Amino acid sequence: MIITSEIAETANDTAKQNGSSLDWFKLAAALLVVAIHTSPLLSFNEEADFFLTRVLARLAVPFFLTVTGHFVLTDYIRGNSSQFTPIKKYIKKILLLYGAAIVLYLPIGIYAGHYQNLSPLELLRMLLFDGTFYHLWYFPALIVGILLLCLLKRFLTGKIVFIIVIILYLIGLLGDSYWGLISESPKIAYIYQRGFQFFTYTRNGIFMAPLFLFMGTELQQKPLQNKKYSMLRGIWFMLAFSLMTVEAFLLRFFKVQRHDSMYLSLPFCIFFLCQLLLSCQCKPSKKIRKISSCIYLLHPAMIVVVRGAAKLLHAENILIKNSIGRYTAVCLLSVCAALLLVKGSAYFNTKPYKVDRAWIELDRKALRHNAAVLQSLLPKGCCLMPVIKSNAYGHGAVLIAKELNAIGIRQFCVACISEGIQLRKKGVKGKILILGYTHPNQFFLLRRYRLTQTVVDYSYAKQLNAWGKKLSVHIAVDTGMHRLGERSDHITQFDTMFQMKKLHIEGIFTHLCAADTDTRESREFTEMQLQKFFQLLSELQARGHLCPPVHLQSSYGVLNYAELPGNYARVGIALYGVRSAKSDYDKSAAPLQPVLSLKARIATVKELYPGESAGYGLAFTANRFMKIAVLTIGYGDGVPRTLSCGKGTVLIRGQRAPVIGQICMDQTTVDVTDISNVLPGDAAVLIGPSGSDCLTAYDMAEAANTITNEIFSQLGSRLNRIVI
Ligand SMILES: *Cc1c(COP(=O)(O)O)cnc(C)c1O
Repeated sequence: MIITSEIAETANDTAKQNGSSLDWFKLAAALLVVAIHTSPLLSFNEEADFFLTRVLARLAVPFFLTVTGHFVLTDYIRGNSSQFTPIKKYIKKILLLYGAAIVLYLPIGIYAGHYQNLSPLELLRMLLFDGTFYHLWYFPALIVGILLLCLLKRFLTGKIVFIIVIILYLIGLLGDSYWGLISESPKIAYIYQRGFQFFTYTRNGIFMAPLFLFMGTELQQKPLQNKKYSMLRGIWFMLAFSLMTVEAFLLRFFKVQRHDSMYLSLPFCIFFLCQLLLSCQCKPSKKIRKISSCIYLLHPAMIVVVRGAAKLLHAENILIKNSIGRYTAVCLLSVCAALLLVKGSAYFNTKPYKVDRAWIELDRKALRHNAAVLQSLLPKGCCLMPVIKSNAYGHGAVLIAKELNAIGIRQFCVACISEGIQLRKKGVKGKILILGYTHPNQFFLLRRYRLTQTVVDYSYAKQLNAWGKKLSVHIAVDTGMHRLGERSDHITQFDTMFQMKKLHIEGIFTHLCAADTDTRESREFTEMQLQKFFQLLSELQARGHLCPPVHLQSSYGVLNYAELPGNYARVGIALYGVRSAKSDYDKSAAPLQPVLSLKARIATVKELYPGESAGYGLAFTANRFMKIAVLTIGYGDGVPRTLSCGKGTVLIRGQRAPVIGQICMDQTTVDVTDISNVLPGDAAVLIGPSGSDCLTAYDMAEAANTITNEIFSQLGSRLNRIVI
């Protein structure tokens, strides 16, 4: 819980913050669902019970659906993102939950005779619409509803989808609480009766769920804490709810209802209710959310338990016949069971607290944005092949690769074989090209982990070929950098390499080494490199070799020579949202966003009197009364030691605090004399925004007299990395 609130705070994630009053209403809604199944007021007044269980409590499930739509579907339905993967993940989760619930209620269902003489059609009806136990219909409804909505959205505009879900709801309404209106008309009733062979009620994933899910995506986050707005929403909700009450009692009076889940005024109630709740702010609580779900899931079992207990204890009068006693007992037991389950699962799932000492926050949105921006610069048919060497420039190779996998990227570059193996062991999908040298005694690992090796020169090609088994390779061409690659003018050697039986050549590439400056000299040099490379390719083709996929650009190639042909672009630093240095030439002026923030805790705040010194070597001495803070990060985490003694700065509460004295391996001391309310446990920002200020990777790199690439790649393994 601390973690979630921490992340919500640091990410400034208003969605999560506002979602919190929804969390609390979810708990109330779960208890209302319990009421539906226990009729708390039945032994006192039938009308009152009808109001509670068939009117008020009917807000619960549509509310669940709307909130789900809001958090899960908004981006997809509004067209902000075409990514279906997060939705797929959510559906998977719900399917698992549904599966677990089916198993949980199997014994009770068998005991109650629910599954006797099931025909295949009935089984399907149960699984897809009705649920295998009475309250479980919600899960298939949710899944069917989400799939239907996403399918509609795929082919139609938002407006048309909205009209369709309204029509579906109206059709559902006629099969539910407005049944009386059509039951007299034989033709229409016949169609419905046919429908009821497939689903017992129309309050399901086709007729009811889509409208509420859709409404969730239309909810506005803003305005925050606007009293007048909240009041207005409150009044609208009360009006709509009064209307719904009148509607329900009228329908009951005229005996129109076949079932009582859907009302004409229900969507309005839910819409205003959710807007009202979204405008109230309180602490987010994932725990409350989980407890609510567990209550929903477990309460029918608790109804059985209460019944059993009542018989055993001869307490039927209090626990069964007295409806309030029954409801109270079921609620209490359900809450206890839910608490136990949540606590229990938390106990077994405890992960170490990630934002404890010094950590990196990765901005998923920024990463996706950068990938999209860079891809858009490239010619058609050229794909990004992200470079995630040196732990993805310190960002965390596995995290970054998985994030990129999730947006469909299926090829990566690393520097060495151990980096490739690590990715494979963590289940990263796609091709992985090792850009550097691998010792022949490691060749067997190339095959074991399905890694692609760079041929660093002709003699290395002979070693690879002589090893015995077929190996996937890309051939490096030296066009002037004089680092790795066979010299481009050695045509015969390339010719021989292309004839080597054991080399499975999947690519050929060169590396531009002057694409980052705009001088005439650099441009001419780059032209020369290009000419040599493409000259070689045509020579090879002339000798009858098929040209494998080609790549020559890294970040600066993409930013400054985007139009160059190629099948892949090996982007590194730009994908992480920065250039190597602020002043670097960038023709594209691509609007990249930094992905990484670096933060550390304040361990202690103390005073320093004039004449006292701080840190190793008496490198700093106070000449006035000062307040200093000790941060839990040092050069052991990758903060350059050259930032000692005032060169470096951090942000605390949005204000700049200069480094004083020497940076230690695990600690750094900063001057916080002029910042009020600095407390131990607070977070200091070394890279990233804080308040209205921001320290960029450029700031740190310039202060340390290096480039951002070096700053990033030094970020240590002791730092925790989280994706936000
Ligand atoms: C590191 C590296 C890259 C990535 O370079 P960036 O400038 O970070 O995009 C591309 N190709 C090769 C061969 C590399 O070694």
